[in-house]
Amino acid sequence: MSEEKGSLCCCSGVGSVSSQEERLSWQEYFMSVAHLISRRATCTRGHIGAVIVRDNNILSTGYNGAPSGLPHCNDSGSACRIFRSIHPDGTIEENCVNTIHAEINAIAQAAKHGVSIRDSDIYITASPCIHCLKVLINVGIKIIYYANPYKIEHIAELVKLSGIQFVRVTVDSTGRR
Ligand SMILES: [Zn+2]
Ligand SMILES: [Zn+2]
Repeated sequence: MSEEKGSLCCCSGVGSVSSQEERLSWQEYFMSVAHLISRRATCTRGHIGAVIVRDNNILSTGYNGAPSGLPHCNDSGSACRIFRSIHPDGTIEENCVNTIHAEINAIAQAAKHGVSIRDSDIYITASPCIHCLKVLINVGIKIIYYANPYKIEHIAELVKLSGIQFVRVTVDSTGRR
């Protein structure tokens, strides 16, 4: 008597997967979560998600948006407010002054709830800006996992000097590679 593969499983079959679908690695798992979190972002210039992890355990999360209780960029009657600055290499930087970046929101959430994030890693759907990178260094983040490179040339020198590790992880919110 032949039994179909999967029929020995105690699960009800809800959420069953095809045999071709490989199990996610830890890095893919956390980056998928970061992508999902980015869908809560409210700045119309870009949606970013961040997850702070230690020992394969999520400690804190964040996405980019306005401070609590303040108007979001995507609220009706509201809009991004752009601040222009010149990077030392001469290129023009444009940032929305309404929003807190995802990484900083994840750190703020940990601080608010008294969660220690020392010696943790962070997963971000885009590489950090130079301002966030400086804070991540001081928090004691060991590895920055990022999905999409964002002006990575602007942070290259700081990355080198800090010794912080950068690892690219390409997976979407559904775990597709
Ligand atoms: Zn904005
Ligand atoms: Zn930033």
